[in-house]
Amino acid sequence: MPILELAQRCNLLHRRSAPQTILRHTLEDVRTGRVAMVSSFGADSVVLLHMLSCIDKSAPVLFIDTLMLFHETLKYQKEVAEFLGLQDVRVISTDTSALMNRDVDCLLHQSNPDACCALRKTEPLAKALQGFDTWISGRRRSQGGERARMDIFEREDGRLKVNPLSAWSKDQMRDYITQQRLPRHPLVEQGYPSIGCRPCTTRVQDGEDERAGRWRGAEKTECGIHNRPKSLPDGGIKRSA
Ligand code: SF4
Repeated sequence: MPILELAQRCNLLHRRSAPQTILRHTLEDVRTGRVAMVSSFGADSVVLLHMLSCIDKSAPVLFIDTLMLFHETLKYQKEVAEFLGLQDVRVISTDTSALMNRDVDCLLHQSNPDACCALRKTEPLAKALQGFDTWISGRRRSQGGERARMDIFEREDGRLKVNPLSAWSKDQMRDYITQQRLPRHPLVEQGYPSIGCRPCTTRVQDGEDERAGRWRGAEKTECGIHNRPKSLPDGGIKRSA
């Protein structure tokens, strides 16, 4: 089935479904092919990771280490993976030669943050996703910006992209973490409701959007992972062997 048609059918079917139902469908429907979750192990990531662990602890989870992350995130990633019993977390980074060629002094984020995100996030993820037909993201409409209009199931770059938490609010995320007694990222209580790379993340004041601390002062609001052009051919989704 072509990806766009599958996405449209799933959006109709799941317009009122709980995230866990959407996630289970994504993992178990043969039409979605090979599936991976992409997680930043950031402020709210533990919600979707916990839901995944309740369905299939062996499902692949891709974590992009930009080599510019907070050390708290790297520590938290290991702790959460162990706490939830995740068996296939894959840490992905740009290869050393590309870094030496394009950002040897690690200052590209100051002069050209889009190029830095491409080098450290978008390109490594695109490479890692080559073995998958479908990927799952933790984005929510309540995060605002371009995210406010997203569907649950989307077609992107010849793959199906699934956003099980798209309809959830920040309060629902917080309540789930409390009810399930999940470990929180240590920077949340220090004023970081959204956590990316160290040089491009600042604290957020009361009344600001939760993503206001990302690339503060710049027009940039996304790293590029979630707003890539949708121009690649849509060849349909292969079934798993
Ligand atoms: S968030 Fe900042 S440091 Fe991280 S990849 Fe993007 S520009 Fe570079």
